[in-house]
Amino acid sequence: MDAAERALKIDSILAARYPASTALEFTSPWSLLVSAILAAQCTDERVNKVVGGLFSIFPNPKSFAEGNLEEIEEAIHSTGFYRQKAKTLKALNAALLENFGGEIPKTAEELTTLPGVGRKTANLVLGNAMGIPAIFVDTHVGRISARMGFTKEKDPDKIERDLMKILPRKRWTDFSNLLTHLGRDACAAKKAKCGECPVAELCPKVGL
Ligand code: SF4
Repeated sequence: MDAAERALKIDSILAARYPASTALEFTSPWSLLVSAILAAQCTDERVNKVVGGLFSIFPNPKSFAEGNLEEIEEAIHSTGFYRQKAKTLKALNAALLENFGGEIPKTAEELTTLPGVGRKTANLVLGNAMGIPAIFVDTHVGRISARMGFTKEKDPDKIERDLMKILPRKRWTDFSNLLTHLGRDACAAKKAKCGECPVAELCPKVGL
């Protein structure tokens, strides 16, 4: 079985077991972008709890761009690294208004011009909130792709390209989401629970 066939089988098994969507809750591409910034070094569950209050005070890009930095910090305090995140959110929203009229752009190249937005975050938003297939390589996707033998690369952009070669475009977003769920469930960074893994028979367990 070649890598592409194996990836498709893994995709189908994981799709039957986990949700094919991000665990971050969102109502628009913009709200997912804000949540993705807050999710750095924080759990998605914590971010989901914080954004309700946050968006009631800062409901749109303008309110962040013109908002008081200390008030933003206070609203996101429990997500950690709140000073840096507040600065990023203010700068990001100001750039979004100035350069894109407040609308989330539809390409990773444009999205990554915004302060604090890397390719992983851009692709997460494009794939999950805009219906534009994209592979986002977060820590789970990178680690598990290597263990599954789909990449030998360490650089997320190169891992993304390796996965693009073996997966049909329409599965890019879902596959990334599914690996993220698998990473939180069986294929953790410190201890992979291969005995409980639904795709153990298809995985060469590289490096374990
Ligand atoms: S078999 Fe082990 S290494 Fe492979 S995906 Fe499952 S938990 Fe991870």
